[in-house]
Amino acid sequence: MEQKIITRFAPSPTGFIHVGNLRTALYAYLWAKKNKGTFILRIEDTDKAREVEGSIDHIMKSLKWLGVNWDEGPDIGGPNAPYLQSQRLESYKKYAQILIEKGLAYPDPYTEEEIDGFREKAELEKKAFLFREHRPITFGVWDGTRPLRFKVGDIKSYHWHDEVYGDLSAGPEALDDFILIKSDGYPTYNFAHVIDDLEMGVTHVMRGQEFISSVPKYLSLYDGLGIKPPLFATLPPIMGKDGNKKLGKRDGAKDVLEYEREGYLPGAMMNFLALLGWNPGDDKEIFTKDELINIFDISRIGHSGAQWNDDKLDWINKEYIKKLENEELENKIFEWLPEELKIKKLVPVIAERISKFGDIKKMITEGELDFFYKQPEYSKEKLIFKNTTPEKTSLNLKEAITALQKIDEKDFSFENVKITLMQIADGLPSRGELLHPVRYALSGLDKSPDPFVIAMILGKNETLSRLQKAI
Ligand code: GLU
Repeated sequence: MEQKIITRFAPSPTGFIHVGNLRTALYAYLWAKKNKGTFILRIEDTDKAREVEGSIDHIMKSLKWLGVNWDEGPDIGGPNAPYLQSQRLESYKKYAQILIEKGLAYPDPYTEEEIDGFREKAELEKKAFLFREHRPITFGVWDGTRPLRFKVGDIKSYHWHDEVYGDLSAGPEALDDFILIKSDGYPTYNFAHVIDDLEMGVTHVMRGQEFISSVPKYLSLYDGLGIKPPLFATLPPIMGKDGNKKLGKRDGAKDVLEYEREGYLPGAMMNFLALLGWNPGDDKEIFTKDELINIFDISRIGHSGAQWNDDKLDWINKEYIKKLENEELENKIFEWLPEELKIKKLVPVIAERISKFGDIKKMITEGELDFFYKQPEYSKEKLIFKNTTPEKTSLNLKEAITALQKIDEKDFSFENVKITLMQIADGLPSRGELLHPVRYALSGLDKSPDPFVIAMILGKNETLSRLQKAI
């Protein structure tokens, strides 16, 4: 039987989770789902000093919004419960005991000052500080009041395979007697995650680059415990817009729920994040969640940093908006509109001009939608197209009014208005001599939808009255 793939996302609740971190969750999720495996949410809350209240809820909300659903986790339980590390202290003690019995763990006898002294001495000698060089020769029984350290067995080089970065190695200097359990009784990340991954049967550890240099330490612990390590897949860093620095707050490393508030669609965000470091192998860029699950592959995760790109996110989001069913689109747009603008005919016009729903707010505050319900104010000069004259403009507009009057009010559609106006415009030296003043007279805006759309939305009476006023 093939081994079941089990992945996990293991955030620490130390504040809001930024959107780049969610890519880690997404990749672990996609890989598990593709392989009909299990995706676990585990909360690594053992650093009580750094914990921020509310972050666990926030993490779960963010994942849910994005559509990254876990099969096991703190809220829904599962066969490996509990999923909060702070509730798994017994497990860590059990394995600590096993290591003690094997002679592979010992209480750290030093005070913080003494350790600082060792560190300073190493610095003066321009050597890397290694705790194991100060390992006491004999040690007493661990009573839980001292930190418990791992006694690294074989001081050797490690060679290992990373599913993304390939074959890696590190010399003995990467190994040390690291702390397993702190004096407050909580385990360190280094220890706890190894135990949890073991107990939860995790097959693929997918995480950020910041852990890669510690892998030899984890390998020495796996060796000490006599267990086979899971597969490691280290994800490439996400770079900021300029491509040089790691993604920072100013580049878009925001709270993902902020993107929700700005009116992005979760599917689009998932699509965008998926492409941030992974490529499907062809030019296709828009994927549904099911498609992503189908084609996602660890072997196509890149090594070099992926660059954050707001324009691309907006583009993908717009593609997602285009795919919405009429009714859903209307509901979404109406959520952002004041009562007087909840007009069905406006929906396609707005949809065409936004890349995220939050843009509607800007359209409103900048008065871009005012012309739909009130006569626009505008400058006379701007009515005149390029080199034409006011007289010529006025004649053209008169001709337009006469022609439009012939359309029945109930037939005043986009098509009919367009045919009528184009007939006149095509007879002029330049179409703009008519289409520009009509558009401008109707909207009063330098940039607006085309005149036919506006006329259709305003209806026959309002259209004619605005053209008359322009004349
Ligand atoms: N708790 C670690 C973090 O928040 C998780 C690292 C891992 O995935 O193992 O960065």
